[in-house]
Amino acid sequence: MEARVASGQLEAPAAEEYIKENREGTAESVRRFFNWLFARGERYPSLKKAISFMIVEALNDTAVATAWGDESPTRDEGIFWEKFNTNEVPRTVLIAILEQRERRQAELQKEWEGKFEDWRNQFRLRLHTAVADGIIPANEHYDQRIDDVRFLVADPVAMGNILGRSQGAGILSVQVEFHKEGDVRKTVFHEMLHHIAGGTIQRTDVEIFEHGALLWQSTQYINRKQGLAFNANSGFYQSGVWLTEGMTELLARYLAEMDKMTMSYPYEQMCILDSIRSGAVPQKLFIDAYFEAHRAKLEDGSRLPAFRALSLAMTKAHGAGWLKKLDALIKERYEKIVSDN
Ligand SMILES: [Zn+2]
Repeated sequence: MEARVASGQLEAPAAEEYIKENREGTAESVRRFFNWLFARGERYPSLKKAISFMIVEALNDTAVATAWGDESPTRDEGIFWEKFNTNEVPRTVLIAILEQRERRQAELQKEWEGKFEDWRNQFRLRLHTAVADGIIPANEHYDQRIDDVRFLVADPVAMGNILGRSQGAGILSVQVEFHKEGDVRKTVFHEMLHHIAGGTIQRTDVEIFEHGALLWQSTQYINRKQGLAFNANSGFYQSGVWLTEGMTELLARYLAEMDKMTMSYPYEQMCILDSIRSGAVPQKLFIDAYFEAHRAKLEDGSRLPAFRALSLAMTKAHGAGWLKKLDALIKERYEKIVSDN
């Protein structure tokens, strides 16, 4: 049941494609894109910062400054955010801004490649040690999966407040600008864990016939289990996202040797830690279930015996339907912070 997509089939993630799409555009479509970006920036402070930075950086570029001429706004990002009126900026300038961002991404990619490789090796060493210490269950596929990973510096304008993303086919895109190096390293460890942990991918061959003739054929790969997140038939994550993110972050902190609580998924982490610290659920049950892949044969009445053991212990501690119940509790906590501020 387990399949991996070979590295040769990797495609650049959609988030990185937006510049290429938009720089071919007409003045109208490029403006529409910028207006959309600015509207999103109003909602997400980290995105606003990234957009501001993109434009301020572009202003330092002679090609952009020349295209803009005397109308070019001040380089003070706070002031320019209010003054930047997309509809008054020439199309050539908007496109030059996007191109400048693209060049910057290419530079960053080169700059960070060495660090990514160091972290790949450090992650592997720490993982092997954790396996040798009996903390993380062994798996013959870890090394291959670690080797399959390709790192992309994520464009902050495309990613907004998402620090990193595991694209499923081995591409990990990670934000580097505006972040401390130690935090970027932890994000890399987090995404590496998503990539190696207990994944089950279902391969589906689709064939459509009309009057007995094959009309269309395709192969689809659907993630059914990644860590402790489970997909229902619709193809969307249905449950366990909080649990998998909390576990991923806790394990990333452990492997990256960061003792302090991190800002990523704090309530998810606390929810798991509470169950462990109260003595209700041993840590090992969480970790084994996280790394578990479907068994071909039933074991202890389950194809996921480690998840079954975790589920039994969590049911005892939190009652039936614990996965959903705790999800609701975590959401409530996040909402409370929003309403308190
Ligand atoms: Zn994650």
